[in-house]
Amino acid sequence: MDFARFIETGLTICPKCEEPFDAPCRCIREANARFQAEESERERKIIVEKYRDGGITSPLFKSMTFENDIDYRPDTTSFCKQYVKDWTKNFEDNIGLLFYGPPGTSKTFFACAIANAVVETPASVWITDFSEIIRNIYDSEFGDKDAVFQKVRSVDLLVLDDIGNKIYTASELGQITQIIEARYRMLKPLIATTNLTPEELENPKEREYKRIYDKTLEMCCERFPLIGESIRPKIARIKREKINYSK
Ligand SMILES: [Zn+2]
Repeated sequence: MDFARFIETGLTICPKCEEPFDAPCRCIREANARFQAEESERERKIIVEKYRDGGITSPLFKSMTFENDIDYRPDTTSFCKQYVKDWTKNFEDNIGLLFYGPPGTSKTFFACAIANAVVETPASVWITDFSEIIRNIYDSEFGDKDAVFQKVRSVDLLVLDDIGNKIYTASELGQITQIIEARYRMLKPLIATTNLTPEELENPKEREYKRIYDKTLEMCCERFPLIGESIRPKIARIKREKINYSK
């Protein structure tokens, strides 16, 4: 509706809602509210994109969303969706999660699906692992230790994928310990995935990892075991079926 035209004609009452134009009338109020809502949705999308580009860099992790969940673990899916639904409270209460179990049981998928949903709220996230952190610290050209520590401290949700999968040098281990402690002091959630059991994390074969794992376990107060058969053959089958359909 062209309000300016109505006002030019000298009308003081809106012919549509029959309220005075200068109140302003209901139509103008509703149009303003729509504009505000669209504006804040645009702003939210810009922030979400910024957070996503900054913290979920690999296309693989980006693709791990609830929309792409093949729902072979409905209990885990609903647990993860509930975590996202309660995100504000989980963030305030610093509730972290540990997904543990043998390879191929979708631990990374569920951790990433949560991060991909949390980022929409919007919240800043970083999905990474110790190897990437070490590379970001030591790379002779692009390494920036301060930036790494700043990111670890600042993001609302940190996801550390596949902890305990590698042996690090003493110097690398020192950096990883500092990273974990830096995050620990921020009282913000950590989601970790690992092939190790909580018992193995509590009593690591390599004793120098104990401090890292103790802090990780303390941050990841909710533990979610993923057991059973590997999902990988099933995913391969689905991919093959898709190829066959498209032929
Ligand atoms: Zn009106």
